[in-house]
Amino acid sequence: MNPRKNLRCDLHIHSCLSPCADLLMTPGNIIKQAVKAGLDYIAITDHNSAGNIPVARKLAERSGIKLIPAMEVETREEVHLLCYFPSLEPLQEMESIVAQNLPDLQNDEEYFGYQLLTDINDQYIAKEERLLAAASMLTFTEIVETATKLGGVVIPSHVDRKSNSVLTHLGFIPPNAEIKVIEVSPNTDPVEFLRIHPELNQYMYIQGSDSHYLDDIGRCSRAGGFVINDQLHSLLRSIL
Ligand SMILES: [Zn+2]
Ligand SMILES: [Zn+2]
Repeated sequence: MNPRKNLRCDLHIHSCLSPCADLLMTPGNIIKQAVKAGLDYIAITDHNSAGNIPVARKLAERSGIKLIPAMEVETREEVHLLCYFPSLEPLQEMESIVAQNLPDLQNDEEYFGYQLLTDINDQYIAKEERLLAAASMLTFTEIVETATKLGGVVIPSHVDRKSNSVLTHLGFIPPNAEIKVIEVSPNTDPVEFLRIHPELNQYMYIQGSDSHYLDDIGRCSRAGGFVINDQLHSLLRSIL
């Protein structure tokens, strides 16, 4: 990719594997909607799992959109961390480490929702029985170190939110953690947010939609997806 071109992205989307996401959030539907929204890059970031990513990668290749292998991991402190990888293999390695550290709880479909895997024809083929929307036993530091060692980039999710954010649950971003970018929710003006949090000025930010419904894909405080500029591009170049 040409680093001088501004790229539109939405790097925080949940598929139907996340129990909280709409059943229409199949990888095929997500990619169609992302193309419609004019996005160059997307990431499907399901809770503690990458089960739909291999299929989504194949579908994305066909449509000309770039899908970054990713997942949203919940730390022991209940902080959500977006973990992005340059290819499928390190993502799947991360997924298996997280799986070994998830509590052994069954999903209650009526309470949490379905956790569905799909095939290349965008049909549901299986259910994940284990509850994915739960805190893993790995700490913030362990997740960041593990993902970084695998060549990944970690971005704390929705730092402006009260729930599952590093600022609420830890109170600060550990200064020695390999964090260069944070995510701000689409409903928050990031410039205003950083003005009231000058301690975060050293970080660059992205805005992901955290979509659980198709219509939300590409949503950020400015319409049409978040734009990756040159500076951010060079910080994220290992995954873009
Ligand atoms: Zn989250
Ligand atoms: Zn999310």
